[in-house]
Amino acid sequence: MTSSNLKAQDSLHCGFNRDFFSPAYTNWYQQAILESNKPDLHKRSKVFRDTEYIIPVVFHLIYPFYVPLDINFIPKIMNEINADFMRLNADSIKLRSKFKSREGNPKIRFVLADTNENGQPSKGYTIRFSLNYFGVEPNQPYKDMHRMKFKAYEGTPPWNTKKYLNIWVCNLTSFETGKTYVNGFATPPKNAPHWSPIYYADSLIDGIVIGKNVYSKTNRSITLTHEIGHYLGLRHVSGDPPRFMDSSSKCVYDDSIFDTPRVLHQNYYTCDTSINSCIEPVNDFPDMLENFMDYTGDNCSNSFTKQQVLMMRYCLKTLRPQLASLKINTIIAPALFLVDVYPNPNKGSLHIDFKDSFSNNYSFEIHDYIGRKVLESRILEPKSLVNLEFLSSGLYSIAITNDKSEIVYRKSILKD
Ligand SMILES: [Zn+2]
Repeated sequence: MTSSNLKAQDSLHCGFNRDFFSPAYTNWYQQAILESNKPDLHKRSKVFRDTEYIIPVVFHLIYPFYVPLDINFIPKIMNEINADFMRLNADSIKLRSKFKSREGNPKIRFVLADTNENGQPSKGYTIRFSLNYFGVEPNQPYKDMHRMKFKAYEGTPPWNTKKYLNIWVCNLTSFETGKTYVNGFATPPKNAPHWSPIYYADSLIDGIVIGKNVYSKTNRSITLTHEIGHYLGLRHVSGDPPRFMDSSSKCVYDDSIFDTPRVLHQNYYTCDTSINSCIEPVNDFPDMLENFMDYTGDNCSNSFTKQQVLMMRYCLKTLRPQLASLKINTIIAPALFLVDVYPNPNKGSLHIDFKDSFSNNYSFEIHDYIGRKVLESRILEPKSLVNLEFLSSGLYSIAITNDKSEIVYRKSILKD
């Protein structure tokens, strides 16, 4: 294995494996699993299973002054998480057919906060110039990884963590070694099932941190999707067994989710579908490499399961009750992107306005909720009006593609 491979593996850690090997944690988790005996999440959540939730997001960008300010990643990453959490991600078709019956749609949308906690208009992000180092060091405990959230360390305190999903973006590279060990980390909801109390967040640190290397990539990134999974109560599919355990014991460890197959340990950067690291006594399935909560990476991860979805929605409804709303009135992509698609919801007329850099190389496609293409056309004018009166009411997705058939913009739209 080359050193670059090692580095790549290390950097996929999301920050939650660090303290999982302490005796205090191990004892707690064994006890929790014994007592829980896998609660039936269907019963807990059937009342609100079909509600669509909308979560306001604020990004806190923390930069050294000498780094050029770059906010263009925000629309890209918003489009990606919205696709993943509405099951509109293009790579969802890669889910193997044997897992299709377990495929879940979280039905959660994320919007950039249009007002701040004081009621003032907001673009959905804050910027702070700071020379401080927030990198995660090799042996740094989880509790010491939150300095970017405090003014005393030249960080940015969160907006009201009960009402906003706060996402800090900063440099997570280690000061000591120059390596990146962690792409991001998140705080699970307080009292989330199957989490150790040592991870419960208070209002000063609740939220998600992602490294700036995550968004400097041009390809798809699943890091934020994975961290939102933690933020809404999901654990890694392996259940993070202690390292000292033998293999047979590790397979007993679990994420306490019914429909994710048991795995021996997190799978690093592999799409090898032959892997079946734990044989289940009944109804054995191979490792679900497609799961967002494994470590298989941007090319392999594309799915949550139904029970993971129920766990997230249960945590959102009961443990983060003030966070989500049901109103649909906010544009997903921020105004800084090159195109505006509005109004949303629409009553049959949809505007597509290019703000700059228009050329006639663009096309759009509209898909319905289950992925069927209902309309496609070239975009001939910088300001276009699309007639959608023929569509029945409901949720659709629009994707704008360039002349290389690459998607440059995507959002969910609601036809009234
Ligand atoms: Zn993780």
